[in-house]
Amino acid sequence: LRRLFDPLDEVAMFASAYSSAIAALEKISGLLQEDPTVREPERPRALPPHRGGLPVEFSGTEFRYRADTPVVLPELDLAIPAGQTVALVGPTGAGKSTIAKLLARFYDPTAGQVLLAGVDLREVSDVELRRSVVMVTQENFLFSGSVADNIALGKPEASRAEIESAARAVGAHEFISELPEGYDTDVRKRGGRLSAGQRQVIAFARAFLADPAVLVLDEATSSLDLPTERVVQRALESVLADRTALIIAHRLSTVLIADRVLVVTDGRVTEDGDPADLITGSGHFAALHDAWRDSLA
Ligand code: ADP
Repeated sequence: LRRLFDPLDEVAMFASAYSSAIAALEKISGLLQEDPTVREPERPRALPPHRGGLPVEFSGTEFRYRADTPVVLPELDLAIPAGQTVALVGPTGAGKSTIAKLLARFYDPTAGQVLLAGVDLREVSDVELRRSVVMVTQENFLFSGSVADNIALGKPEASRAEIESAARAVGAHEFISELPEGYDTDVRKRGGRLSAGQRQVIAFARAFLADPAVLVLDEATSSLDLPTERVVQRALESVLADRTALIIAHRLSTVLIADRVLVVTDGRVTEDGDPADLITGSGHFAALHDAWRDSLA
């Protein structure tokens, strides 16, 4: 299992050996489930087809990592309508990643529920869950293999035309075409030549092709130069369209395109609103916004 956590070396080999949709979707969903107590339901309930995302709900969700460690989320009640883009901000250790991981069902809540289209995640089959909720993190931007392979992890049966069209949709086609072997460029050999921004955009192309109802994104913290940031931003906007999204946001530009910002403090949502409204307030988000703006000035 440990091999799977060495993405650049092993995962794509694993992918080509087991090129089933399930294996690929498990990988792109982020990591393998971290909690061995997470089980497949015996009688899964089907999710409705998604046209523009599915609604998400945290209902009385409590979570602690272990019985002998403190509660990280005391009681989260949060309804996210289909198609909404929600940005999570707040101090380190507040519980943002934990919320994201519960939505991707890396863990089950210790009390309460996480629901997708009204269905408890514990009742959704693994295959359907991996297809419906895709998590993109810095750790899984790229695996070994070609650029095309990396995008195709979003849909293993995709044709080259579909792969290219996903790349075009997120604005990656141009720079991919300029790589030494275009879409066939080995990202491991040439990986050093792909910038942090390009790696992110390729991961967005993969998510675009996978077309999940829900995208969970842990944005990279590394700062990007302004032209790259614009490219990443446009890619992000394309991949956010027509799905529900939960983003652990590290960039001001991302927060500003969100429909809704949640400030998480000590496992609780302490501010919740439209970014434009929160900016004018006197809370954490307004202070964060000022600090971000000053750092750009
Ligand atoms: P954030 O994403 O806002 O930085 P996290 O969700 O990562 O916050 O962490 C919330 C709390 O849970 C922190 O106190 C952190 O130490 C704890 N925590 C995170 N991951 C684990 C883990 N795997 N095991 C035990 N505690 C954890």
